Amino acid sequence: MTEPSKINLVVIGGGPGGYAAAFLAADLGMKVTLIDQELNPGGVCLYRGCIPSKALLHVAKLIDESRHAKNWGIEFGEPKIDLARLRSWKEGVVKKLTGGLGQLSKQRKVEYIQGRAGFENASTLRITKADGGEQSLTFDRIIIATGSRPSVIPTLKIDSPRMLDSTGALDLPDIPGTLLVIGGGYIGLELGSVYAALGSKVSVVEMTTGLLPGADRDLVLPLHKRVEKSFASIMLNTTVTGLEEEANGIRVTFDGQDVKQREQIFDKVLVSVGRKPNSEIPGLNKTKVQVGQRGFIQVNKQLQTADPAIYAIGDVVGEPMLAHKASHEGRTAVEAIAGHKVAFEPNAIPAVVFTDPEIAWCGLTETQAQKENRNIKVAKFPWAASGRAMTIDRTEGMTKLVIDPESERVLGVGIVGAGAGELIAEGVLAIEMGALAKDIALTIHPHPTLSETTMNAAEVFFGTATDIYRPKR
Ligand SMILES: Cc1cc2nc3c(=O)[nH]c(=O)nc-3n(C[C@H](O)[C@H](O)[C@H](O)COP(=O)(O)OP(=O)(O)OC[C@H]3O[C@@H](n4cnc5c(N)ncnc54)[C@H](O)[C@@H]3O)c2cc1C
Repeated sequence: MTEPSKINLVVIGGGPGGYAAAFLAADLGMKVTLIDQELNPGGVCLYRGCIPSKALLHVAKLIDESRHAKNWGIEFGEPKIDLARLRSWKEGVVKKLTGGLGQLSKQRKVEYIQGRAGFENASTLRITKADGGEQSLTFDRIIIATGSRPSVIPTLKIDSPRMLDSTGALDLPDIPGTLLVIGGGYIGLELGSVYAALGSKVSVVEMTTGLLPGADRDLVLPLHKRVEKSFASIMLNTTVTGLEEEANGIRVTFDGQDVKQREQIFDKVLVSVGRKPNSEIPGLNKTKVQVGQRGFIQVNKQLQTADPAIYAIGDVVGEPMLAHKASHEGRTAVEAIAGHKVAFEPNAIPAVVFTDPEIAWCGLTETQAQKENRNIKVAKFPWAASGRAMTIDRTEGMTKLVIDPESERVLGVGIVGAGAGELIAEGVLAIEMGALAKDIALTIHPHPTLSETTMNAAEVFFGTATDIYRPKR
């Protein structure tokens, strides 16, 4: 086993996977170089993903709440939106966080190279630096953390400033009168919610039967009901077959059994139909690294590729393409390189959709259990029976536990409702700790909080919930 201090580690990509890996490796004593195209580490998550979208969603929430406040006897005027200031606030958040990562990197003596890396051979990189210079770099071990980019449907690609991907939408160039979001996944719904709150008439088109394909339908329902009111239209079972730029917008052609109007014109069109791994790294074919059919780099549980000196983490190795999965994989890869006995085998990776209401789940979903014909029991607690939900006027939520009826172990947790993203961590912990429904029911939760609904759902499983009608015996 090589001493960590003798290992010369290079990390390509400074996203949440790459920077976490680089910083931990430096803490363990390795000599670390981190390469990314941006001025500072941060990757998609900080520059054009999680962080800017959540900053804008915070503003959207404030606008929605201020409008809703008249139900509570408080009336505000219509919001005046200073787009330049909103943009600069969001950019300020990004700058502070990425600048902070730059500082942390320096403090750890991680050598940061701003540039684009490719492989010269299986132990040397060729870097084209941001300043135009070229540099070769040898390594003992390397971690590929090159992330992902928005998928493009070639037949729907037109070169027009009216067409946006998630990066373009987050730049907030303007507030279009009408916006079509192609794709009812989490990115489309989050960004659609932002533009709807800012005043755009947002339509969403989704080719499958429901929004957020993959999530349990009972979790999606309250969100669907709410966005039905805030969005101009939601077109399900519908595909976009053509886009054509005209003087006054993009003419979109729709196809599908439920289509009411085959052609419509939109000021702007946001395409959010998924993400593609950045595995087309120059010279990767000079190594033994294997890339699978969907473009993901293939790795084992230590995140090691078929080339023993080369590891890969984050979006570039597979689903779920989420920041927290990337950073945990980064830690595992570094510990494996340091010679620790580790494996990336989580029991639950949380997924959060930061819409209003939020949807969050972890572990086994009900849909997945049904597909696999597994024997489960589902215990649901409706937020209409939660005092806290009542005080914030958000009773449409629901918390549910997916439980193994024999062992009474919690296998999955799903939550829809305000702040679900903050609440799901308890579910993740429960699953990782192998908690039984009884453990959750007996854990005293603070009152009045939405966190109580997790305990209440466990009580529902035992038929002992006192905040709802007594179950029929
Ligand atoms: C709009 C949006 C919202 C999102 N919201 C969330 C959220 O709320 N929560 C969540 O968990 N996830 C969210 N995600 C997903 C999240 O951003 C990704 O899962 C995460 O960033 C993946 O991290 P990563 O380290 O794998 O790579 P990335 O963050 O993609 O970073 C990869 C970096 O590598 C660089 N790079 C690529 N190739 C090279 C090369 N050859 N040389 C040098 N550098 C290179 C790239 O420029 C990039 O900076 C969101 C994504 C988007 C687009």
